[in-house]
Amino acid sequence: MGKKNILVTGGAGFIGSAVVRYLIHETSHGVVNIDKLTYAGNLESLSEATKSSRYHFVHGDICDSILMEQVFLEFEPDLVMHLAAESHVDRSIDGPTAFIHTNIVGTCTLLEVARSYWSRLEGEKKAGFRFHHISTDEVYGDLEGTTDLFTEETPYAPSSPYSASKASSDHLVRSWYRTYGLPIVITNCSNNYGPYHFPEKLIPLMILNALEGKPLPVYGKGEQIRDWLYVEDHARALYKVVTEGKVGETYNIGGHNEKKNIEVVSTLCDLLEELCPSKPVGVKAYRDLITYVQDRPGHDHRYAIDAGKIERELGWRPIETFETGLRKTVQWYLDNSVWCRHVQDGSYQRERLGHVGES
Ligand code: NAD
Repeated sequence: MGKKNILVTGGAGFIGSAVVRYLIHETSHGVVNIDKLTYAGNLESLSEATKSSRYHFVHGDICDSILMEQVFLEFEPDLVMHLAAESHVDRSIDGPTAFIHTNIVGTCTLLEVARSYWSRLEGEKKAGFRFHHISTDEVYGDLEGTTDLFTEETPYAPSSPYSASKASSDHLVRSWYRTYGLPIVITNCSNNYGPYHFPEKLIPLMILNALEGKPLPVYGKGEQIRDWLYVEDHARALYKVVTEGKVGETYNIGGHNEKKNIEVVSTLCDLLEELCPSKPVGVKAYRDLITYVQDRPGHDHRYAIDAGKIERELGWRPIETFETGLRKTVQWYLDNSVWCRHVQDGSYQRERLGHVGES
């Protein structure tokens, strides 16, 4: 494939930064990363990629249509990979408004700017243009009490303000295809884990708490089931879909790794016993730190993905098993204490201040 310009939104986030690292290290494409640098945006996750002359950063909000128009005009993207979002379910319960704004209004803004840009393109550039919307399996709701898997045909039944806002944005993207013909693809993926994950999410929270001898808070009885995918496998899948996926189609992405939360936390404790046996003072076994806390309201019991379509049609499969991916993840957190410290003490946001007003 020839060199393309790829516009990534939310490229300073957990998955977005894995996508940017993949594009810079594994392809020859040019990348523009547009990110508002909310608390979840961390430019330290991109320190290697930023050394490349093919990487450009724009500090901005996807809801800012004038800025978005400028970015499209100057950069002339061939492909758009839209990951920018408010992504944390607990935060959406405490304050849903930001989720409505970024995930719904922001996606709509981007769709309108992309549509206007695409309508002015001609020839091969127009035919090759793709708008890839990155979404979650949480739009499908809860599989409690069944052995079913989410397929691309599963009806939407979101439970939280987060998943409802993502469901909404999926519908908007699909309608821009049906109504205006904008060439879109959508992916719905299961829970990701891996390096550079912000420590409010289950796996990094447990690792970092354990290393400090703090309690490991598990919702309810830890019986909720999630289907886990290593983030670098997700980044590879996203690149496959944006470059080879069929216009107008949805692809589910998952790792065939259904695990109860309590199993995940227990496995992490066992890995830490092996990889970091020198424990904090007063801790005999990492498992002793497990503490059950009141369940999250509206908590879905089980998610599980049927990733058969992307496997059959695009030949993608995850490389990591849950065991190999989790081991790599624990080792990464042990080896990258500076990244972790900067997130924990808030100093990762200093770099962001250096970018205010930059475009
Ligand atoms: P994240 O919270 O780590 O990162 C989101 C990024 O978007 C941050 O860098 C943030 O600064 C940026 N952002 C937020 N609002 C913005 C705005 N208005 N304008 C520009 N940038 C803005 O999220 P993530 O976990 O990397 O998820 C990325 C995408 O993948 C999301 O759309 C999410 O719904 C989806 N997804 C996540 C998972 C998962 O397990 N984390 C699974 C499936 C799908």
